[in-house]
Amino acid sequence: MKKLRRTLTERIAGFAKDWSLPRQLAGQSPYAEAAQSTLSKNLRPRLEEADTVGTSICPFCAVGCAQLVYAKNGRPLHIEGDPRSPVNQGTLCPKGASTLGVLLSPQRINKVLYRAPHATEWDERPLDWAMERIAQLTKQTRDDTFVERLPDGRTVNHTLGIGSLGGATLDNEENYLIKKLFGGGLGMLTIENQARI
Ligand code: SF4
Repeated sequence: MKKLRRTLTERIAGFAKDWSLPRQLAGQSPYAEAAQSTLSKNLRPRLEEADTVGTSICPFCAVGCAQLVYAKNGRPLHIEGDPRSPVNQGTLCPKGASTLGVLLSPQRINKVLYRAPHATEWDERPLDWAMERIAQLTKQTRDDTFVERLPDGRTVNHTLGIGSLGGATLDNEENYLIKKLFGGGLGMLTIENQARI
């Protein structure tokens, strides 16, 4: 009880000391300085610790909102919208605003994982190995399934053995190139994208 009373007394004393009115009545400036509490006096700018700021583009969708990435000692501290961008004018949607969490998440996988046919475990592989394997399998599947003519003689030059599903970050130009390479180049018919602008 004694402790509670002391805490209460200390709090009231602290409040009276910190309250702007006594300071104003005591003749200090009636303006901002006297009105400033100890708490607000000790507040620091949110990004004061950052020693660099770089630019980036939100990785989530094809709107391509511009971002400012604040960092300290090379480690990102905060990511926010870049007000100079005509696309997002400093704003980010909730997904874009969560970019820092995605970037620093311990659950983020930043290595190539490969599970061989019939295997139950994932193995780590180099990125070059994965790219080469994808290229080889694409070529092999295309060669095995390519159809030049239908039984009725019509020329089709297509494969139904491979498909492409693009991600939301692909923009119009990238989708155009995908369509040219996969469709016109390899003869794939099943080409789709998650989102477009
Ligand atoms: S996910 Fe949101 S913040 Fe990111 S580019 Fe799309 S609209 Fe912009």
